[in-house]
Amino acid sequence: MAADAPVTRKCLSKDCENDASALQCPTCQKIGKESYFCSQDCFKRNWSEHKAEHKVKTTGHYNPFPTFPFTGSLRPVYPLSPRRQVPASIQHPDYAKDGIPRSEQVFVGRNKIKILDKKEQEGMRKVCRLAREVLDIAAREMRPGITTDYLDEIVHKACLERDSYPSPLNYCHFPKSVCTSPNEIICHGIPDQRVLVDGDILNIDVTLYHGGFHGDLNETYYVGSKAEADPDSVRVVETARECLDEAIKIVKPGMLFRDPGTVIEKHAKARNCSVIKTYCGHGINQLFHCAPNVPHYAKNKAVGQAKPGMCFTIEPMISLGTHKDKTWPDDWTSATQDGSRTAQFEHTLLVTENGVEILTARLPDSPGGSIPMPSATNGDASKEPVAPSTVA
Ligand SMILES: [Zn+2]
Ligand SMILES: [Zn+2]
Repeated sequence: MAADAPVTRKCLSKDCENDASALQCPTCQKIGKESYFCSQDCFKRNWSEHKAEHKVKTTGHYNPFPTFPFTGSLRPVYPLSPRRQVPASIQHPDYAKDGIPRSEQVFVGRNKIKILDKKEQEGMRKVCRLAREVLDIAAREMRPGITTDYLDEIVHKACLERDSYPSPLNYCHFPKSVCTSPNEIICHGIPDQRVLVDGDILNIDVTLYHGGFHGDLNETYYVGSKAEADPDSVRVVETARECLDEAIKIVKPGMLFRDPGTVIEKHAKARNCSVIKTYCGHGINQLFHCAPNVPHYAKNKAVGQAKPGMCFTIEPMISLGTHKDKTWPDDWTSATQDGSRTAQFEHTLLVTENGVEILTARLPDSPGGSIPMPSATNGDASKEPVAPSTVA
């Protein structure tokens, strides 16, 4: 585990008793290692010996932001893999080439919420079903020991096999085909060379572009059995799952877009969790992100109401600690300011005449799903059948 640097460091030089100054070996900094010396002289004197340590690290992996004050123990592990390609035969969204979603930036009618006709609704159904398939494929591959970059490869290939473009790829210059957000990462984590460990929780956020439409969903999963046995991890993951379920229950024509936030925050607070305010649900159709804006917190000022034929996402991000976020210098990865764990769930929804259709609904064999709170005592005891007592 990464720890904070001690207050007083000793000079790394072999036979030097001095405290270290702020002087660090620049090569070590590049590869994400800490090595402090007391003076330029000491550093130079030790160079021939010290440089050997640079070669010890044979993986070539490094932290690209060694001086950034990370809020938790997670670090980016670079280099990112080369950009993945999408064959020209697959329909690309407008931003695929230069990273700029021009069709989303039309300011006229920006707050107008699109009503999809029957044919367009069918297009949304199709892409959302494909997106569910891809998320499930990624979730089945997820286990301790693999990297998030491997999940990116899996998602990318599964999209291509479905004649679909992975919507995140080059959206506002996002470098990868899926967002992977472990532990204290709220959302928009970039798949990299970090290896998942037993005890992590991981959100996988998949969006596909197919037939001219985007379908968007995400779930948070437990990596290995340690996470399933950790009460706080289970509390934040299951609370996020329930928050989405509760919010979807109120979706029908006439629902105000400010209302889901009330339901979500009430449930989160009842579980002693907080709601991230910076990121919202969004309209989705031929555009990846458009009106309406659907905040997840109470007392928001979102405008508009649901009408049959509208498509939008609800995707609450729930934290064990603060609701405040901090973005890494990669300009994407959003972490909690106090390093506490967060979880998220997302569905793409279609408003029907009298309710809602969950376009990205789970399939009977979808991996993941809710688990019970681990008992405070030894979890093994719960496997013993409990004799029925008085039935209430
Ligand atoms: Zn998403
Ligand atoms: Zn979304």
